[in-house]
Amino acid sequence: MKKIFALILAVCMLTCLTSCGGGKLFMATGSETGTYYAFGIAFTQVLKDKAGVEIGVQSTGASKANIQLIDSGDVNLAIVQNDVMDYAYNGTNTFADEGAITSFAAICTMYPETIQIVAKTGINSIADLKGKVVSVGDVGSGTEFNAAQIFEAYGMTFDDIQKQNLGFTDSADKFKDGQLDAFFCTAGAPTVAITELATSTDFTILSIDAAELAWLQENYGYYTEYKMPAGTVYENIKEDVTTVAVMATLICDADLDEETVYNITKGIYENLADITTAHAKGAELVLEKATDGISTPMHPGAVKYFTEKGVIGG
Ligand code: GLU
Repeated sequence: MKKIFALILAVCMLTCLTSCGGGKLFMATGSETGTYYAFGIAFTQVLKDKAGVEIGVQSTGASKANIQLIDSGDVNLAIVQNDVMDYAYNGTNTFADEGAITSFAAICTMYPETIQIVAKTGINSIADLKGKVVSVGDVGSGTEFNAAQIFEAYGMTFDDIQKQNLGFTDSADKFKDGQLDAFFCTAGAPTVAITELATSTDFTILSIDAAELAWLQENYGYYTEYKMPAGTVYENIKEDVTTVAVMATLICDADLDEETVYNITKGIYENLADITTAHAKGAELVLEKATDGISTPMHPGAVKYFTEKGVIGG
């Protein structure tokens, strides 16, 4: 009996925590060795200290799963890719089967997420991945969308590879053990999973060829070209890498109250120096570009702050 009572109490507390105004909020991120998670921990700590907003950070399958977690009311905030947000809101791509999700609202874009294709040395092109064991990202990740589209640019599909759905931590572990030939990782670079891998294992990062890159940009509007000069992002990479990037975007439940979202937005943009001290990606947040790349509705709390600052309107 006592156990049942404790369980009911725990459920009530959790419901209250996620839905009561003024209580602690929860944010969905991604794999623990991705960038959402580390950056999420960094900026929410600053928000707690400087703006009095308390946000608990959860590790998840990433972008698509995060939008679903907002929709089901399990979390209040999430970091997601801007391309996946658009597919969700408009019910396109893999959201075509499950239906559009429109219960979220955008707060701001944060930093570019690089599509990194880590491969065994000796594999020199994306076309060479044919028949290979390749992880295309976790189930529910945005990474999987990018992998599918990049293969499409090369006239390939997931049927051409031995597909695995693994998060970044598992991808890096299996790659290290020789069980994977390559893995996709769409995340702010350098990404912890890849930096850690570099301490023990040789690998290369594949470039997207010019024609295929142009095709990608023409057919999927969210990709921007992204260059990683040799030895800069990862010391062991001896050649320049040309790939693409999308934008990490902070979103929230569209029903989250305006004052809370205003405080979060203001708390982020008025404490960028502290956020940068906590995580290097903070340096990539630029007030003037805070709404670039967002194609779905913004939350009124964020609109209020950005209007005050002259970023939108005027
Ligand atoms: N962008 C990735 C995804 O949604 C997650 C990135 C990260 O965890 O940093 O698949």
